[in-house]
Amino acid sequence: MATINDDVFDVCIVGAGIAGSTCAYYLAEKGIQTLVLEKKKFPRDKICGDAITERAQIHLNHMGVLQEIIAEKKGNWAALGGLVSPSGIEYYGDSSKEQEHLVIAIKRKILDEKLIQAAIKQGANLVENYTVTETTFLEEKGIWSITCDKNKKEYKARVLIVADGAASHLGRKLGLVDGPPQATCSRAYIESGSHQFPYDGVCYYPPKLVPGYCALFKEADGDVVYCCYIIPGGECDTSHLTELHHKFIKEDPFISKAIGSNPKLEKMKAAPIRFGGIPRSYGNHLLIIGDAAGQIDPVTGEGIQYAMDAAEIAAKTIQNGMKRNNLGERFLKQYHRKWMKSFGRDFKWSQRMVKVCVKYPIFLDAFASVSKRKGDKFMTEWGKIMTGSKTKISFFMPKLAFPLAFETLRLRRKRKKHAKDAK
Ligand SMILES: Cc1cc2nc3c(=O)[nH]c(=O)nc-3n(C[C@H](O)[C@H](O)[C@H](O)COP(=O)(O)OP(=O)(O)OC[C@H]3O[C@@H](n4cnc5c(N)ncnc54)[C@H](O)[C@@H]3O)c2cc1C
Repeated sequence: MATINDDVFDVCIVGAGIAGSTCAYYLAEKGIQTLVLEKKKFPRDKICGDAITERAQIHLNHMGVLQEIIAEKKGNWAALGGLVSPSGIEYYGDSSKEQEHLVIAIKRKILDEKLIQAAIKQGANLVENYTVTETTFLEEKGIWSITCDKNKKEYKARVLIVADGAASHLGRKLGLVDGPPQATCSRAYIESGSHQFPYDGVCYYPPKLVPGYCALFKEADGDVVYCCYIIPGGECDTSHLTELHHKFIKEDPFISKAIGSNPKLEKMKAAPIRFGGIPRSYGNHLLIIGDAAGQIDPVTGEGIQYAMDAAEIAAKTIQNGMKRNNLGERFLKQYHRKWMKSFGRDFKWSQRMVKVCVKYPIFLDAFASVSKRKGDKFMTEWGKIMTGSKTKISFFMPKLAFPLAFETLRLRRKRKKHAKDAK
């Protein structure tokens, strides 16, 4: 058995975020000797909207992490909530009587520590305060040498997994990741008792921000997390983030009302988002997972569920490779094929959806309007598609497509009539 002080690990994972810790869990569960190197020390914060969707809940449930969080009352189910469309049509539903909810809000400071602890319990090794700066593949031995800039110990492993987040300096160095992340998002916690937010989770689409949006989610401790997602393709680009983050808090009629007049707001923090998936996420004895691989949905900016799915696929691929004693590039390519099949191809539909929302924001109005008439079931279907529980092509199902198309036409006609009457 490889230990922290000697030997060669089967796998070394760089980054103990959602992707790295989940992968370490699944590898250790299979008895694979795993080392995780993390530049920070836990508990550590990660800038995020804290919305954990159904697909991610399946992994957390398997690991026992979700049960622990619920028992400790550290997660808040998003039972009461909805959406405000670009022209201000509001829909709020209530799923508190349902058994299942699409989203649970969990602070990342809590979630990420629980995840790495779960991996350690399975047998994974963690080294904190270790910023990986150099990785060299020793071809003749089939081994990676991994080092830090502070004269710390050198580690060795047969497989290197890059899970260092959206900026992915390592992924770029290794030639797998190209260019900067395309999108960005802000975050600020609003202290419990200082806000007026009566719901568990609401998405707001201020017209200027489409295809981006703002989100408010209530946490278990009563704080509310406020995020402003800038997704390229519309009027705004990433340089507008600071201005818009503050502007919506004060001036957007719905967001300012939900937050209240005297909120105790955390200073704005922001982080980049790399979405859509990178074209090659594998190499010789090498895989890249999570945000580093761009495994984020271009229409929502959410990535926790995909990071976890990809982490599990990566662990299974490595297990198979080890059984066959084949960790070469051609064998590991199946990891890329599998995550593309599982969710990556759907990102192409998300990109089309982004274009539709920019060109026809009335589509979002129609959705809110139909939800008002049809209620929670319609909203849940939409939520499942948006959060990846169902594919984006599901929007073409007659039970969704027909009401949305009719409502879009009805709203258009109504607006034309209003414009004519106003002349
Ligand atoms: C503002 C914002 C809001 C978001 N909201 C949501 C949301 O509500 N729901 C959702 O599903 N997704 C959301 N996302 C996306 C989500 O945060 C990511 O998809 C998720 O964190 C991906 O996890 P990861 O492990 O790939 O990367 P990260 O969580 O970024 O983890 C990377 C880890 O690698 C470590 N690291 C980096 N470099 C090195 C190095 N050289 N050596 C050692 N360690 C290193 C870092 O310290 C970090 O711990 C949001 C993103 C942003 C920016």
